[in-house]
Amino acid sequence: MRVILLGAPGSGKGSVGDLVRSAYGFPKISTGDLLREAVQNKTPLGVQAASQMGKGGLVDDAIVLGLLRERLARPDCRAGYILDGYPRNLSQAKDLEALDGGRPEIAFLIETREDVVVRRIESRRMCPGCEAIYNVITKKPAQEGVCDACGTALVRRQDDRPDLVPERMKTYHTKTEPLIAYYQAKGVLHRIDGNGTLEETFRPVRSVLDRVLHGPAESQAKP
Ligand code: AMP
Repeated sequence: MRVILLGAPGSGKGSVGDLVRSAYGFPKISTGDLLREAVQNKTPLGVQAASQMGKGGLVDDAIVLGLLRERLARPDCRAGYILDGYPRNLSQAKDLEALDGGRPEIAFLIETREDVVVRRIESRRMCPGCEAIYNVITKKPAQEGVCDACGTALVRRQDDRPDLVPERMKTYHTKTEPLIAYYQAKGVLHRIDGNGTLEETFRPVRSVLDRVLHGPAESQAKP
């Protein structure tokens, strides 16, 4: 099974992906995280990616595909995986088919209003130690500015700079939105309202996954 999470930056894909991972045990692969790790480690791909990420655009398909290919080859992906932030354009969707086609897939489009997305991006903080995500309004750490899990000081992600948000939204509308029609045509797209709390957003995702993975009886048993 492949679970694809589509949505604007800040729509809640990553948080929903974390809940899917906890509930179903599939690893969550965020190409943004893979890229940030490569940038931090100054790998050759990371050095190339850094300047593109710093402008709010997309990193070259070949770079992202290289990182994804390595990650999908790991044994934990054999039974399935969750993709957060990939594909981001039609050619990546085709790359994914070529890399790992034939696998059953479900795509969730997290639909979140632009004002909500902008507010979430502005209040998002990240732990550079373990990549845990916080929000200074809705998901505060116990001690201000410090990661609950590993004690590292929280930072704002480089690409969450407020001045980059309009460009990232434009990139989403022009490059990523065409994927909605692509997955709709494949008959695997589910639209999810992402404006509420994380629990409210996750509920319909869980119903769909329970139905697909365990059959209708199981999904009815859960409220
Ligand atoms: P994210 O954490 O998913 O918001 O990604 C952060 C940044 O990494 C994006 O603004 C892009 O510059 C880059 N990025 C992440 N995933 C991809 C992808 N699939 N293709 C191209 N660039 C990506």
